[in-house]
Amino acid sequence: MDVTITNIRKEFARFPALNDVSLKIASGELIALLGPSGSGKTTLLRLIAGLDFPTAGQIFFGDEDASHHSVQDRNVGFVFQHYALFRHMTVAENIGFGLKVRPAASRPPKAEISRRVAELLEMVQLSGFDKRYPHQLSGGQRQRVALARAMAIEPRILLLDEPFGALDAKVRKELRRWLREFHDRTGHTTVFVTHDQEEALELADRVVVMSQGKIEQVGSADDVYDRPSSPFVFSFIGDSTQLPVEVKNGTVLFQGEPLGIAEPGEGAGQLFFRPEDVDLIDARDALSGKVTACRRLAGTRIAEIDIANDGHAPYHVEIEVPLHAPVELGSDIRFRPTRWKIFRD
Ligand code: ATP
Repeated sequence: MDVTITNIRKEFARFPALNDVSLKIASGELIALLGPSGSGKTTLLRLIAGLDFPTAGQIFFGDEDASHHSVQDRNVGFVFQHYALFRHMTVAENIGFGLKVRPAASRPPKAEISRRVAELLEMVQLSGFDKRYPHQLSGGQRQRVALARAMAIEPRILLLDEPFGALDAKVRKELRRWLREFHDRTGHTTVFVTHDQEEALELADRVVVMSQGKIEQVGSADDVYDRPSSPFVFSFIGDSTQLPVEVKNGTVLFQGEPLGIAEPGEGAGQLFFRPEDVDLIDARDALSGKVTACRRLAGTRIAEIDIANDGHAPYHVEIEVPLHAPVELGSDIRFRPTRWKIFRD
């Protein structure tokens, strides 16, 4: 089922939690809504679910305008971090619940519900756990039961709000891989909310980066990491440095001095680059500063550098340096970005 969101606005007491949001989600896509706290991710997910309704704009499921349909009519499945399992029901009862409470006319016979529950248990790799109660499961197993429960009603769309938020890092990683495989097998259109960029970049077909109730960029992991379309996305995704520069006669000036990099156009702007996109270089036209710290970070080594700023607080820059040639604390260092982006002021 494809979902089309057009010009959605959502106000809470006149405060716009979402402002003119439009998004097309293709059938079978796995989409991540990524953004800082308060950017509107959960609000958007709740509007898609039908747990809340837009102030303006429309949400289509296929060709059908679902903007004001109830949760039941939309037939969506959702898993929320704090949407706990029913404690007094077994795993099997939890999964079958959504089918059992259907009105008699659309309720499947008992045997059919049992068959469906067994099938789902197998799908989430929990066969044999049917008679257990939630407190007899690990956190990761509980999340998988929650997912099976959401899937039991054969939803048209699966919505997940920080589904792995409360789990430890290792379990999160396992569940992430598992969810990707699960999605590829079942082919459900899936939208999940996360503020963990690693999770979004690794899992999703496309990432929707949100800030202050607006969509900043929609694209693949490569798009949002390698080709950020705004200063917000550049600084929010991954690590980066921002420096004020001026473009003059096709070259970039920092503090009035050329950096040895070329850029078309003229005028003031903000230079952005990532720690891994620099070369240490022994040349006059380069950035230069003092090494204030050098630390090992997984497979890389990061140097922290202060660039003097004429009586003001220095610019703080972090760059990757060769792993086996640590730079000396307090030494002067020169470097030049090899990949960068300038956003004009
Ligand atoms: P988080 O990552 O912290 O969950 P989020 O991106 O999911 O954040 P939302 O929960 O969608 O953000 O909230 C967006 C904005 O709307 C916030 O400023 C929030 O305070 C506001 N908001 C959300 N729900 C309500 C509500 N029911 N009443 C009033 N304001 C609300």
